[in-house]
Formats: sequence, C-alpha cells, structure tokens
Amino acid sequence: MNQHNFSIEFFPPKTAEGVEKLRVTRTKLAELQPKYFSVTFGAGGTTQQGTLDTVVDIRREGFEAAPHLSCVGGSRESIRQILQQYQAHDIRRLVALRGDLPSGYGMGGEFRYANELVEFIRAETGDWFHIEVAAYPEMHPQARSPQDDLQNFVRKVKAGANSAITQYFYNADAYFRFVEEARKLGVDVPVLAGIMPITNSSQLQRFSEMCGAEIPRWIRLKLNSYGDDSASIKAFGLDVVSSMCERLLAGGAPGLHFYSLNQAAPTTAIWKNLI
Ligand SMILES: Cc1cc2nc3c(=O)[nH]c(=O)nc-3n(C[C@H](O)[C@H](O)[C@H](O)COP(=O)(O)OP(=O)(O)OC[C@H]3O[C@@H](n4cnc5c(N)ncnc54)[C@H](O)[C@@H]3O)c2cc1C
Repeated sequence: MNQHNFSIEFFPPKTAEGVEKLRVTRTKLAELQPKYFSVTFGAGGTTQQGTLDTVVDIRREGFEAAPHLSCVGGSRESIRQILQQYQAHDIRRLVALRGDLPSGYGMGGEFRYANELVEFIRAETGDWFHIEVAAYPEMHPQARSPQDDLQNFVRKVKAGANSAITQYFYNADAYFRFVEEARKLGVDVPVLAGIMPITNSSQLQRFSEMCGAEIPRWIRLKLNSYGDDSASIKAFGLDVVSSMCERLLAGGAPGLHFYSLNQAAPTTAIWKNLI
C-alpha cells in the first residue's frame, strides 16, 4: 500500500476531549504511514482556528498535514490572510474547495467556484502550495449534467491544481470512467479515490443523500437487513469497501484518501486487508 499515495482526513474537534481523542486516533493511524493527514475546514470559516490548530498539532508530531480551505462566503482579503497564516506555519499542501453554506445563507462572498479559489491561490502564492481539488465521479449534486461537471473539474485542474481527491463512491466503474474522460480532456494530474468506510448504515445513508454519493441498491438492502446489528454492518462494510479498494488500486488508481470521521479502526481494518 505504501507505494501508493495514501492519505487520511479528519475534521477539527470542537471540544478539549475531542482534541485528546483525535490525538489517540492519530497515533494509531500514523502506524499506517500515510503520506499526509488532511483537516477539513467549515464553510464560511467556521472552523478556521480549529483547522489550523489541528494541522499544527499534526505537524508538531512529525507528520505532514494539509488543511482544507473553502472559499464560499469568503473575501479575497480573508482568504489572503488564511494563506499567509498557512505559509507562516510552513504548510505546503492544501485542499482547495468551494464549500457549502447552510441553506438560507445563499452563496455570498467574492468567490463563486473552486476554480476561482485555485487561480487566486496561484496568483497570491505562486508554487508554494501543492493544491488538491475535489472530483465527483457520480456528479456533484448541483451540476447541470455529468458533462458540465467534468468540464468544471477540468477548469479547476487547469487553474493550477496538482492533484484531485474524489467524493466517495461505492461503484469503481464510475471512478474509472471519470478518470478516463478527464484524461481525454487533458487532465494528467493524479486523481485519488476518496474512500468512506461503512460502519453505520443510517449515518451513511444520510450523508450520501446530501453529497450525491450513490449507495448501490444491493448494498443498501443488505445494510437495511442487518437492522441494529452493528457487528454485521461493520463486517459487511469492511468486506465491500476492501474489495473495491483492491479493484481501484489494481485498475490503476494512484492512491486512496480515507474519510476517517476521526475513527482509527475502520480505516486500519481496510488498510490491513490491502497489504
Ligand atoms: C475531497 C473533498 C474534501 C472536502 N472537504 C470539505 C471541507 O473541508 N469543507 C467543506 O465545507 N466542504 C468540503 N467538501 C465538500 C465540498 O465543499 C462540496 O462538495 C461543495 O459543494 C463543492 O465544492 P467544490 O470545491 O467541489 O466546488 P466546485 O468545483 O466549485 O463545484 C461546485 C459546483 O459548481 C459547478 N461549477 C464549478 N465551477 C463552475 C464554473 N466555473 N461555472 C459554473 N459552474 C461551476 C460544479 O459543476 C459543481 O456542481 C469536500 C469535498 C471533497 C470531495
């Protein structure tokens, strides 16, 4: 696995207890030797300090860390200040996103789309950052069509992204087709597959509705059939997701990015099935 580009995502904890728990989680996940840990950023800057604090903690422990940065609701000046803060901490990698404000907030801010953020980061900081952007093999839920979404992804890469991470999916063919079509349009950066371990059926179904990730019918029916039997859900989820990861890597995916939800066990179990 370590010959692949393998990264793990956290969200910034909100409480002192959460910070401590994440430290323990991180120590366990660090044994897998990921290339870096990334830390999400609440749209509108809601977790700005928490994101930075978590990234600084990770780097203090000797690991590479990449903050996410979402631009929705932000001004050029506010984003400039965040970039300067990241540079002052010698952070060299970030995940650049548009983000989503809660409904009712509109879009606001001086950036409409992630390609504008990528352009701005390059204009302000040159080649300082390795920039990752998001990709949607099953289409972003607000896109007009898959073709339109793909064009928008290409625009984002051409604005200066170095690599991409996909939204999670449970259909490897959607990923392979997306990458193939992006290549035909001149995208030559690595597109890492975003992996969401399956551990909780209702939470997964809720998340997936919001972000437009499809849970194939057969997986949904199986999960529903287990009811509250969380051991069976976890065992089935581990099996399904590990097989998909094997297929992705065998089929040429350059690496995997795990949405850990700040838990060590699910990512570790999948990873162990892959080595
Ligand atoms: C790997 C990953 C990490 C994430 N981390 C975070 C996080 O830390 N914080 C957070 O708030 N959210 C995060 N998200 C969620 C993300 O912010 C949402 O999916 C958001 O709705 C879209 O962000 P984006 O950067 O993909 O947007 P964009 O690339 O801007 O795309 C958004 C929509 O607009 C369309 N579009 C794009 N560019 C144009 C254009 N120039 N003209 C017209 N239409 C266009 C696209 O087709 C798409 O439908 C993450 C998602 C992924 C996959």
